Amino acid sequence: SAKNAGKDDYFVFKDKMRKRAVEKMTVETELRLALERSEFVLYYQPIVDLKNRSVTGFEALIRWNHPRRGLVSPGEFIHVAEETGLIVGIGEWVLHEAASTVQRWREDGVADNDLVISVNISARQFGERNLVDNVSRILKDTKLPPHCLKLEITETVVMVDASDSVRKLNLLKESGVLLSIDDFGTGYSSMSYLQRFPIDQLKVDLSFVQRLDVDPASIEIVRAIINLAHGLRLEVVAEGIETEQQLNLLYSLQCDYGQGYLISRPVPQEDAELFMKINKSLSL
Ligand code: C2E
Ligand code: MG
Ligand code: MG
Ligand code: MG
Repeated sequence: SAKNAGKDDYFVFKDKMRKRAVEKMTVETELRLALERSEFVLYYQPIVDLKNRSVTGFEALIRWNHPRRGLVSPGEFIHVAEETGLIVGIGEWVLHEAASTVQRWREDGVADNDLVISVNISARQFGERNLVDNVSRILKDTKLPPHCLKLEITETVVMVDASDSVRKLNLLKESGVLLSIDDFGTGYSSMSYLQRFPIDQLKVDLSFVQRLDVDPASIEIVRAIINLAHGLRLEVVAEGIETEQQLNLLYSLQCDYGQGYLISRPVPQEDAELFMKINKSLSL
């Protein structure tokens, strides 16, 4: 009967909830150990200047080299890390690893002096009282000049407590690092705050970029974001470029920078080094 079916649904539901809770606890326990065991690695995705396609920087993207599961993508564990607060320690590791790698590239002559490394900052991390001090300390420790580090923060995160974010972003800006609003256009943002945030860049979310060649409305949205950014003297970068057509459209809309599988997937450190060497020899 319908009543019994409802009851069955309830037990199936409860079972699923229990499974999910156990899974979460397992991930949490494993995440706690992962930092100590050095199981995290950074992959690097090139960001190119759309005018000449030269590499201007990389985005550092975390992967978890799990002993049994292999390479796990952030979509599968970042939310657990965020909910449990483990993201704070992981985030510090990411910042230190990215900064020291790029500083090594600079010292070895692999990277140009103005190459920029972009690092994602989570909601919890942005909310930490000592974020600014941590960033400054890591730059000092690794000797990476502040203008070589860009922090990516989503618009939803900065809008949670917008007036507090203005204060925090100003402190970060004073330390000399660059600031980018990630996934722009998907969260909620207020135009008036956009003007008050001391940011350098808007990053057009990949969902708009990927609809560019199939949906005319997306062209208008991306055009509006690019015009808004340029009007506010901000740079624009498009993420998730997968086709030549998307790349050409973005170029004709005067988007400054691009990132996506068409150019390169996120790659291990050694491949990023190779990418820069090839790029250099091509531009000679
Ligand atoms: P995000 O910061 O918006 O990064 C862009 C994501 O799009 C990356 O996924 C990247 O691999 C993917 N992507 C790049 N180009 C293309 C493309 O052409 N097509 C498609 N389909 N995807 C593309 P990934 O590496 O899985 O990271 C997902 C999200 O996890 C990131 O989104 C970011 O929010 C978070 N994340 C990654 N690394 C870190 C980290 O170190 N710390 C924190 N807090 N979050 C991170
Ligand atoms: Mg990002
Ligand atoms: Mg993004
Ligand atoms: Mg994203």
